[in-house]
Parts: sequence; C-alpha cells; structure tokens
Amino acid sequence: MNARSERVGEKKAGMNQEKLIYYKGLLEGKLRALLDEAEKAVNGMGRERSEDFPDPTDRASLESDRNFQLRIKDRERKLIQKIKEALDRVEDGTFGTCEACGKPISEKRLMARPMTTQCIDCKTEDEQKERLEKLRGTKDAPKFPS
Ligand SMILES: [Zn+2]
Repeated sequence: MNARSERVGEKKAGMNQEKLIYYKGLLEGKLRALLDEAEKAVNGMGRERSEDFPDPTDRASLESDRNFQLRIKDRERKLIQKIKEALDRVEDGTFGTCEACGKPISEKRLMARPMTTQCIDCKTEDEQKERLEKLRGTKDAPKFPS
C-alpha cells in the first residue's frame, strides 16, 4: 500500500522537471565539447600534405592516419546525433524511459551515459544477441573460450 502512495505525483515519463533540466545541461555540455573536438579535428586535417612524404611507406601510413581521422569523425558524428536525439527526448518527455521495455532507466546509468535509449537489462540482452550474431557470422573464427 505504501509503495503505491509513493508513486503519487509521478508522471508518465517518471522524471521530474528539475532532473530533466539537469540532464539537458549535461547533454548540452557533451554536445558542445564534441562539436569543439570535431572542429579541431577538421582544422587539423589537410595540414600534412602527401608531397612531404615521398617514401611510399610513409605515404601509406599517412593515408591510414587520414582514414583513422575519418573514422573518428564518423564516430563523433554518430555520437552527436545520439545526443541530439536525447535532447529531443528531454523535450517530448520520454527521456529516461527505456525504448525497449518502457521501464525507467536507472539514474546511475543516465548519469554515465545520458544519451542511452535502453535500460541496462535491455542493453545487455541486445549486446549479447549482437555478439552471438557476430560469432555465427564469422566462419574462420578462432576457437572461442568455453
Ligand atoms: Zn529496458
């Protein structure tokens, strides 16, 4: 009975305005830091020209460096997108609710990863499924530890 009365005042999304504002600030801070980093990476690119590396080996490593930078950029871009989506969820009030099971995501998890869309249980399940699919998809995979 007591458990029920504690729920009085709890909204559908399960999070009060103060907390939403807190997470919004957290997300905005992360977004700004990422955008700053991305800008720095873009400005740093193209400074080294391949003409400076006549040796083919150096040239190859320069190319892979560039690929690395592009991958980082891609990863950042995805993260930026995730943060923006999380900010949208703050706006529409679904922030902090697991998109898979509809239960509230723990605050500890939200603090560490405010852009997460799933509770730890659903995420773990998801990752296990992904890992299994990856293992099944690899024909010449080394023996995995039992
Ligand atoms: Zn869930």
